[in-house]
Amino acid sequence: MSRWHDVARATGLLGPDGTVAATIFAEMTALANHTGAVNLGQGFPDVEGPDHVKDAAVAALREGPNQYAPGAGVPELCEAVAAHQKRHYGLAVDPTSEVLVTVGATEAIAASILALAGPGDEVLTLEPFYDSYAATIALTGATHRTVALRPSEAGFHLDPGDVAAAFTERTRVLLLNSPHNPTGTVLSREELTLLAEQAIAHDVTVVTDEVYEHLTYGAEHVPVATLPGMAERTLTISSAGKTLSFTGWKVGWLHGPAELVTAVRTVKQFLTYVGPGALQKAVAHALADDDGRTAAYVSDLRDSLRERRDFLLGALRDVGFAPFVPEGTYFLVADAAPLGFDDAVALCREMPERAGVVAIPITAFCTAGSELSRTLRSWVRFTYVKSPAVLERAAAGLQRLRG
Ligand SMILES: *Cc1c(COP(=O)(O)O)cnc(C)c1O
Repeated sequence: MSRWHDVARATGLLGPDGTVAATIFAEMTALANHTGAVNLGQGFPDVEGPDHVKDAAVAALREGPNQYAPGAGVPELCEAVAAHQKRHYGLAVDPTSEVLVTVGATEAIAASILALAGPGDEVLTLEPFYDSYAATIALTGATHRTVALRPSEAGFHLDPGDVAAAFTERTRVLLLNSPHNPTGTVLSREELTLLAEQAIAHDVTVVTDEVYEHLTYGAEHVPVATLPGMAERTLTISSAGKTLSFTGWKVGWLHGPAELVTAVRTVKQFLTYVGPGALQKAVAHALADDDGRTAAYVSDLRDSLRERRDFLLGALRDVGFAPFVPEGTYFLVADAAPLGFDDAVALCREMPERAGVVAIPITAFCTAGSELSRTLRSWVRFTYVKSPAVLERAAAGLQRLRG
């Protein structure tokens, strides 16, 4: 069987009978388009990012050059990433050897895992996990293992016994994500320390996806690279997409020890070679933030996301869902069992017609058939990164799910 079959199987695209199906994401987007339902399935803002960053992109396009950007990324952006990490987290990063600009966080993840893992290795992720992780791990031929974020009264958390059991002598990479999509969990310093201790004990490289680093609502985001002994074994990934509401620009980056960054760059240069230089310059301008406009934008975005989160939480509680209050990201997850639905896949197929709302069953982010996917069978993920008017329409529609 070819590698695309492995990817299709890992992402639920390939049925047990060998037929190729649509992913639940494609199915739900098609349903949204077909029924005119409010799409709370896919997490992208329905407003544009800030004008000062757009203006910088226009200026950079006009000024040129519009030829291939340098392989590591435009120097202004590498410097802005290093300065950002110093300013926010006290991390010392060399912009010339320890930063790589990528085509979104997605390419940074793919190039990192392709560079670091292969057949016979294990890559460990949290479960549930962002959908590109399973596909990327399948591409490398490595085995995907997971450690569960278990639901409780206090939210989704790691169990120390699970963490210890998840690492083996074959674990090569821990692919982390905090703030976490889909649950909205921000891993605590204690949880990160548990993972870090195991990573050190098993000599594991950590690749950490921190694209929601600035979108938290009170909980402190702790970059795993700031923990003792971790900077030298961690690749930290982020992106302009979520922080600046330019998901379509696909400007991402990673930083870490020079040897690891060189390994990733070796792969990355044969994936896309480089991304658009003008957009990188605009993101450099935004990240450097000499006039404070980006900080003001992000602070307003955070406040408004918190309000929109609270509005959707209220609407879901009102009809009988049991939502978990997320501490970050664009998403929240809610249990539909109290409403009488024990199968979130069936509910999500029904909701567009019945309630005019599209959402994603959380099992789409779990390993097929895993213990956790059974526990979370009745859970649904909703995004709230939509305008208040759109969320009000969704809230009105959700009322039709009552008894
Ligand atoms: C959106 C998202 C990404 C993708 O980021 P891009 O910069 O658009 O490639 C990666 N990881 C997580 C957890 C995300 O939610």
